[in-house]
Amino acid sequence: MSLVIAIDGPAASGKGTLARRIAATLGFAHLDTGGLYRAVGLVRLRQGGDPADAVAAAVAARSLTPDSIGTLTADPALRADETARAASVVSAVPAVRAALLDFQRDFARTPPAGAAGAVLDGRDIGTVVCPDAPAKLFVTATTEVRAERRLKELLGRGIGAIYADVLKDMLDRDARDSQRAVAPLVPAADAFLLDTSSLDAEQAFDAAMTFIRSRPGFSGR
Ligand code: C5P
Repeated sequence: MSLVIAIDGPAASGKGTLARRIAATLGFAHLDTGGLYRAVGLVRLRQGGDPADAVAAAVAARSLTPDSIGTLTADPALRADETARAASVVSAVPAVRAALLDFQRDFARTPPAGAAGAVLDGRDIGTVVCPDAPAKLFVTATTEVRAERRLKELLGRGIGAIYADVLKDMLDRDARDSQRAVAPLVPAADAFLLDTSSLDAEQAFDAAMTFIRSRPGFSGR
């Protein structure tokens, strides 16, 4: 049985950076599950259809294969805000979530390249995808801090943006992710809550590793 670390949290909370670093440190495989929902959103945007069309979104999700997931998640358009918005719309469709569940669970159960464990990050890993994960973290930061981080990232990539728009986008996406009927963004009851508002990446990583090493199966790793 592979050792699974479930990391959930809202956009720009720092969970992706944290998940990648934890995986690299432990020699585990890493799956950014947001990329799967973004892939479905991107397919729908390219088809020119309305992302809110639940039937078409479900068809797009079911048509994904490991190969097409690899191609779509390597596409620079995956990171665009437009794709993130489409992802948060298609991800509220129960049939889309159901279509992506097996891929995520297979990755957790049998990580690629024979890795001893897997780190999955997303919104519902500790609650729905891997409820039995021995280590669960819920990473948060205030909306203002997350919007500032996102703005900095966009400006760093040479993309023009203003704080008010980024903040509004973040509030809209948080509301959609937290209020949807299926697999809403909520911490698992047994998750370690890590608020990164006043922590730098190093401090967040140290706090996460201290928690993980206290969990069954992780001591000495
Ligand atoms: O994490 P990221 O910002 O890439 O996720 C994009 C969108 O995908 C989120 O806003 C959310 O709506 C959806 N998502 C989800 N469940 C996950 C991961 C992402 O619903 N496990």
